[in-house]
This record gives sequence, structure tokens and C-alpha cells, in this order.
Amino acid sequence: MDIEQFRKAGYQAIDNICDHFYNLQNLPVRPDVEPGFLAKSLPDAPPEKGEDFQLIADDYHKVILPGMTYWPHPSFFGYFPTACTFEAILGDLYASSVPNPGFNWAASPAATELEMVVMDWLAKLFHLSPDFLNSSGIGGGALQTTASDSALIAVVAARSKYQKNHPDIPIEKMIVYVTSQTHSLGAKAALVLGVQVRTLEATTEDDFGLRGATLAAALKEDIDMGLHPFVLVGTVGTTSSGAVDNITEIVQTLKSVDRDVWLHIDAAWAGIALSCPEYHDWAHLKAINEYAHSFCTNLHKWGLTNFDASTLWVRNRRWLNDALDVTPEFLRTAQGDAGTAIDYRNWHLALGRKFRSLKVWFVLRAYGTEGFQKMVRRHVNLNEKFIDLVKSSNLLTLVATPSLSLSVFRLDPVDTTSGERRSRSATADALNTLNVQLHKRLSSRSDVWLTQTSLNGTFCVRLAIGSTNTEEKHIDHVFKLICEESEATLKAEKW
Ligand code: PLP
Repeated sequence: MDIEQFRKAGYQAIDNICDHFYNLQNLPVRPDVEPGFLAKSLPDAPPEKGEDFQLIADDYHKVILPGMTYWPHPSFFGYFPTACTFEAILGDLYASSVPNPGFNWAASPAATELEMVVMDWLAKLFHLSPDFLNSSGIGGGALQTTASDSALIAVVAARSKYQKNHPDIPIEKMIVYVTSQTHSLGAKAALVLGVQVRTLEATTEDDFGLRGATLAAALKEDIDMGLHPFVLVGTVGTTSSGAVDNITEIVQTLKSVDRDVWLHIDAAWAGIALSCPEYHDWAHLKAINEYAHSFCTNLHKWGLTNFDASTLWVRNRRWLNDALDVTPEFLRTAQGDAGTAIDYRNWHLALGRKFRSLKVWFVLRAYGTEGFQKMVRRHVNLNEKFIDLVKSSNLLTLVATPSLSLSVFRLDPVDTTSGERRSRSATADALNTLNVQLHKRLSSRSDVWLTQTSLNGTFCVRLAIGSTNTEEKHIDHVFKLICEESEATLKAEKW
């Protein structure tokens, strides 16, 4: 393809993408396909001779696009949202046209410096402590692929910091703390690093957030046994129910034991709400700012920026460099040697890194603080509407306190004769089975998508709002469908 052919194909691509977005809400959220469907439609080897691009683009629309699940669909309520804005799409497009693997300053000076700037802008947007700013010269932030990568990097840095301060401790005695509600990223980081993991109980009574007393008891037990907890992954907005660990109590506990435990905050989804001052206390921002060693939120979840764009801040960049700096001669640069620029290659696991800061810059400029706040509040308001509908229902109940734009609910019908919820008389197993059936029914639909979870043994359904196109009518629609499927489940299960 030459430049003029690219121009033509590029105009056509943008036209097609616009048509797709105009049509999105008329499409099913999920495709009606079975595993293996695609290989059957494609040749089993690449073509011998290159093909005309028009044919390839046509096949994308015919074969690939209809087999996608549409995460930006207004009736997508599964998992957590993945952000999608036109500004971010354009940012990715421009970034691909300068395909620099910006691993150090010299490799892509503007890419490195834009990342430093946008990470500081974001830290200010989320009201993080100035300690985390790149401009502080001590702390700093970098864009990562995912929250899982961010957590792994935090745990690598925590391990290296701990080993530096306690050189005689064998790795087998070092423990990562997570809670029963932490995303699997905590256990995965421990698995990768070959360290033990201990899961602390976040109880139903505490609305699935970790309390200081639970942490204090675990620390005492492990320290008495000669073990070394060196990092705790605390969560603001858990995956299952949007719960928040009591970071204030956690910080008090960690300060009182004074054992060099790194606190990583995973706010992959809910961190975006810190753009709104009304959520600062809810998220324990004061304690985070006072003590946390690292903090992560995903712009690609609720932050108006297309995948991938995870953010990781650390209070001291030296911890990352100490843990991850490996500099053979071929990677040395004058600026790196002089320490006058950040070499982001030491802030993540790979060498090359994408020019993600461009799309983030586009988004931050196009939306501003106000745009972020408006989006968060709009989704929270939509969730409030859903909560009201659930509360007024004789079929459904909330299982956990709703969190921002996430509600977790289950089918628990009111008995028409006694006027009481059936959970009072039915066994936990029977109610779980009923809800598994409800979720099966909901999952077999292609016009909405809701995912399930288990909260300390209670099977429930999650509704996470986050598409830029979701409106009140979509909330009304999904609630109506949930009620219809609930009635059908009760009938089929003979309740
Ligand atoms: N942390 C939380 C609280 C999440 O909800 C999720 C995903 O939903 C993750 C981490 C994982 O995010 P990523 O896919 O960016 O690793």
C-alpha cells in the first residue's frame, strides 16, 4: 500500500467505524457463535501472494466484526466497562504512525516527556499526593498495560526493597497479603515471583472490605512464626462488589507494627471516581496519600481511554530502578548515565513500550476534569435508578452495598402469603441454584450482558454501568428483562 492508497483506505476505515458506532445499539451485545467458528471461515495458511486491501477490509466487516462482543454497547453491563472514546481512538491511530518503542528518553524524547506530563496531570486529577508526581523528582508515574502488570511491578519493587533492607531473609519466608476479595492479580504476582500468598478474610459483615483488626491478627501470627509479610495489595473498588478495604485502619495497623510492609492500592476501576471530591473519604484517599507505596487505576476501564492504559504511581522511583534496572552497554545513553531523564524501560517489565501517553493527552484535553466528573456522576446516577428499581421489586434484592456504578443483586422473591423474602426459609444452596439458573438465562440472551460472581459463597449477578452510550432507557430495559427472566426461572424451577 502506498501513501495515496493509505489515504483512501484510511478515509474509508473512518467512515466504516462511524457507521459501526451509529449502528451499535441495534446490534446484539454478544455474537451468536460457538468456539472454533472463525477458523472454519478462514484459510488454514496465509496467502502465497499479497491480496488487495479492499478484500481484506471487506472480510473484516463480513467475518471478524460480527464475531465480536461489543464492550462499548449501551447494554453491556458485564465485568467492568472498557472505555471507548473517539479521542482515544485517534490518539492510538496517530501513535501507530510513529511506532517508536520508547524505552528510554533518547529513543523517543517527546513520548517520554509527554508520559511524564500526563501522569502528573492524572495524579492531580485524582488528587494524589504531590509525592507521586514525576515533577517531584523522587516519586513518579508511568503508563502500564494492565492493572495486573502494575501489581506485578509493585510486588517486584516491594520484594527488592524488602530484600535490600533485610538481606538475610530467604524468599520462602516472604509473603504477599491479599484479601478474599482481591482480584486474582495479587495471587498471580506471588505465583510469578515464587513467594507465598496469604488470603485475609474480608467478611460479609464488613461489606467485603478488609479491616485493620484482621490485618493486625494475621501480621502477629505470621511474624510470630518467623514469616515476613512484605506487601499488601489493598483494593478500592473490588471486582465482585466494588468494596473498599478500610485503608485508614490498614495504614494505622501497618504504622503500628512498623515492619516495612509495602502497601499497593489496586483501584483499577474505582480510582477514576477520585476525580470527584465527594468520593475521597469513601476511598480513604487521605490514608492512601499519607502511606501507600504505589497506586494503580485503569484509564481503560472507566477513564475514557481505550485499552490499554493502566497507570502506576510510586512514592519513590528509586524502588523501581533498584528492582528493574538492567543496563547492558547497548542501552546506555548520555541522558540515562547523567540521570537527567527518566528511562521508562526500568519502570516496567518489557523493554519497548507503546506511545500510550498520546491518547491520554488527547482525552485529558478533550474532556478536562469536568468531563471526567460528569461521566462518573452520570453513571452513578444511572446506577441509583437501577438500585431504586431493585429495592421496589418483589423479586430481587441487593447482596452488597452498591458501589458507584456497580450493583450486585440476586433473585430472592417475596412469598405472597407470608410477605417475607424466600431466603428466610429456603436453604442457601437452593437459593444459589436458583440464581445460577437465572444467570444462565440472562447469559443466553444476546441483547444484554451481565456477569456473575460469588460473594463469600453467595452466588449473585453483577450490573456494572460504564458505556458512554448507556442511558436511562437501557437501565429500564435491562431491569425489565431481569424481571422477565426471574419469573421464568421461578416457574422453571417450580418455586
Ligand atoms: N483489579 C480490579 C479491582 C479489577 O476489577 C480488575 C479487572 O476487572 C483488575 C484489577 C484487572 O485489570 P487488568 O485487566 O487491567 O489487569
